Amino acid sequence: MLNKAASAKLPVTKFFRRGLFSFLCLLLISCSRAPGVYYEQFLGFGTLIEVKIWGVDEKTGRQAVAAITDDINYMHQTWHAWKPGGLSRINELLSTGETFTLSPSILPLIRDGARLAELSGDRFNPAIGQLIKLWGFAADELPKGPPPDKEAIQRLVDQKPVMRDLVLDGVQLKSTNPAVRLDFGAFAKGYAVDLAIEHLKEMGIANAIVNAGGNLRTIGKHGERAWRVGIRNPRGEGVLGSVDTFADESIVTSGDYERYYEYQGKRYHHILDPHSGYPAQGVTSVTVFDSEAGRADAASTAIFIAGVDKWYEVAKAMGVGGVMVVAADGTIYMTPNLKERIYFDIKPIPQVIYSEPLN
Ligand code: ADP
Ligand code: MG
Repeated sequence: MLNKAASAKLPVTKFFRRGLFSFLCLLLISCSRAPGVYYEQFLGFGTLIEVKIWGVDEKTGRQAVAAITDDINYMHQTWHAWKPGGLSRINELLSTGETFTLSPSILPLIRDGARLAELSGDRFNPAIGQLIKLWGFAADELPKGPPPDKEAIQRLVDQKPVMRDLVLDGVQLKSTNPAVRLDFGAFAKGYAVDLAIEHLKEMGIANAIVNAGGNLRTIGKHGERAWRVGIRNPRGEGVLGSVDTFADESIVTSGDYERYYEYQGKRYHHILDPHSGYPAQGVTSVTVFDSEAGRADAASTAIFIAGVDKWYEVAKAMGVGGVMVVAADGTIYMTPNLKERIYFDIKPIPQVIYSEPLN
């Protein structure tokens, strides 16, 4: 995500200490040395990006990954909320209330981000950049606590920044609410995975996985069989379960284990409920299945915030294909279309409560 940017610059040891854990919401299960698979990993968006391509020679694989590495480095820099680049300039200008010209590479994030925010009932709310910064989740290093001052949080919540405050006319933008600052940390990695997959397709690659820190999309197959991916256990090591993906499918997980700190025995994580101003409670991870990784990324964050009571409503409104919610008490809530698809690896097998179908 954007605000994990810096782990790209973390010392290697530190990265791997975290990396061990963050073998990410989604672990690629199939063996990296399996015949026919070209595998590479690199750091991007401050997280581990894994690419697997089936059925190409090494030269083709290397060239393809080099191309998407360049894409991702560019996107990371351009879309970072506070580091000098396209978006940080926008954030400075938004506070003025004046109209200014956007850099076109940010336009789709703003346009699609606004649409998805609306559908999510502003749970996914990229306009709360100031709140994310106040909590310290926009910085490279994780904050250590204590949590921010209660009044400071409330002041930002009361200003109610939302994407509807933005007035977009072509590439001209202004904000009618001076509190709006954009942070696409909950959306950009998924969106970047979509663009990376598009680029791979343009290069003639038909069978691949791109996984950016738990934001994953697959195309084609692994030879004769489907690609198989693991979904991280939000509590404890390893995987909760695994799933064979469809030919073109995105599987995106948001969890409270990705970025958090503990202070006086309480966990403060990076998914903030815009209504309370505090980390959302009641859920430990949400996995969204969809055709697009960008939408799945925004939805995984929104559904996490919606919690066990409202998750289905938000999933339906956002139009995603399937959802699995792991509640804080270990209960799993799931759409029925995933029943035959997810194989649980943990014992005892968790209790699953199925919802109505999404469509
Ligand atoms: P991850 O990046 O771990 O997969 P998310 O996709 O849920 O998790 O993104 C979390 C990031 O999104 C935070 O680090 C922050 O930058 C941003 N964020 C936090 N809360 C919200 C929210 N309610 N709406 C939009 N973005 C958010
Ligand atoms: Mg997300």
